[in-house]
Order: sequence, then structure tokens, then C-alpha cells
Amino acid sequence: MSNRFFVDPPIAGTRVQLGGDEARHIARVMRLQPGDGVVLFDDSGAEYAAHIEAVDKRLVTLAIVERREVDRELPFELSIACALPKGDRQKWLVEKLVELGVTRLIPLKTERGVAQPVDKALERLARGVIEASKQCRRNRLMRIEPACSWDELVGQGDPSVRLIADPGGAPLTALIDRVPSSVLVAIGPEGGFTDDELRVALQAGWQAVGLGPRILRVETAALALSAAIGLLHGGAHHGPA
Ligand code: SAH
Repeated sequence: MSNRFFVDPPIAGTRVQLGGDEARHIARVMRLQPGDGVVLFDDSGAEYAAHIEAVDKRLVTLAIVERREVDRELPFELSIACALPKGDRQKWLVEKLVELGVTRLIPLKTERGVAQPVDKALERLARGVIEASKQCRRNRLMRIEPACSWDELVGQGDPSVRLIADPGGAPLTALIDRVPSSVLVAIGPEGGFTDDELRVALQAGWQAVGLGPRILRVETAALALSAAIGLLHGGAHHGPA
């Protein structure tokens, strides 16, 4: 089991107190004791070697031993925009996107969207991001953006590559042939994009990417593209840092 714990707000100084879920994880689940070594991360990009000084019921005090700059991020920003699937599939999607190094998840409100991304659900997903980051050793959290409409998303001109997943689209390798500076990928909801939604994106300069002749579920399409883009261009030749 992971001995990594998340600290919020970011670490400043040589001593940290943890409460809430993380304290419970240390004290109740892992049953760690004063003197035990752990790794802390705080979304700053670095991680910290620390040891436990005191374990209280609700509060754990730790002493920072060393700050280490360890970069496990992709060498470019990868944003995935999709209508969230329901229940466990949503949780699973977030976990896997974190593992694959996705920078931002943008929940989409679409005409045919199923699960509406309400604040409570987004909060739960944020906890899922922390859990997955503990496990996969990421030192930066995948951001979950506020839900966004199709028109708002399509108008984003920043990312250097903007892809819309559509069965009639071109193969990924024809669309990204070198390491991009940023990629934004849109996956449609379970009912698919409407013709209008697709047309608006193509007119705004997005490119349609195909994922083969089978129809994938939202989370499979999101994962397949994140994995393919990350592994093709994300420095997969490096072993775990
Ligand atoms: N109900 C729709 C399928 C929606 S699948 C239909 O029958 O056509 C959900 C989303 O996953 C799609 O909108 C698309 O963005 C993506 N997707 C699924 N399979 C795909 C494929 N083979 N190629 C590209 N995108 C795909």
C-alpha cells in the first residue's frame, strides 16, 4: 500500500500537521507510528521525505526531512473534455486519467449528456484525484475544471492540437506527428455528438480523430486517447522516477 500522503495547503517550513482523510489513513488504516517514514506531496510538483512525530486521533504531526524535485508529469498539457459517465464508471475514469498523466479534466454539459456534473459530484471526484495520485506517485493533481458547455469549449483557441473523437475521423498518428505543446481532446456523451456539435468544432479548426471501427464507451475512448497520446509523445522510455 502507498505510503504517500497529500498535504493541503502546500508545505512551508519543516513541520506539517495533517487532519481529515489523510490523518485517518495514516493512523487508522496504515497504523503508522512515530518514527515511521512517509512521502508527502502538495501539488507543488515536488515530494518530501518526512517522518511521523506524533499520532493523535485526528491529527498527525510530521517532520520534513528533505524536499525532492521529482517530475512525473507529461512533457505537455493534456486536457480531456468529456461528458461524465455515471456512478462507478465516472470514478474509474478519473482514477485512470490521473494514472495516465492527464493535466485537466473538463466535464462537458452536452445536449445528450447523462450525468450532470453538479458540485457535489465534482468534490467527490477531487478526492478520487488525490487517492489516485497517492497510488501512482504523481506530485501534481489533475485539475477538474468547472463544467463547461460545448460552445465554451469549442471556442478555446489555446491548445496547439484540438481533437474531437469521432468514428469518422483520421488516425491519431496522422494528426500528431511530433511532441505537441498542448493537446485538448473532446469525447462525446453516450448518445454521441449531434451533427451540429461536430460541425461547429470542425469549423473552429478542431480535427476529428477516429479510434477504429468499434464504438467505445465514453471512458474507454477517453482512456484510449490519453494513453495513446501520452505513450507516443510523453517520454514513456523513462522508467519510474
Ligand atoms: N451512441 C453513439 C456512441 C457514443 S460513444 C453512437 O452509437 O454512435 C461516446 C463517444 O466516444 C463518441 O461521441 C465519440 O466521441 C467517442 N467514440 C466512441 N467510439 C469511437 C470511435 N470508434 N472513434 C472515435 N470516437 C469514438
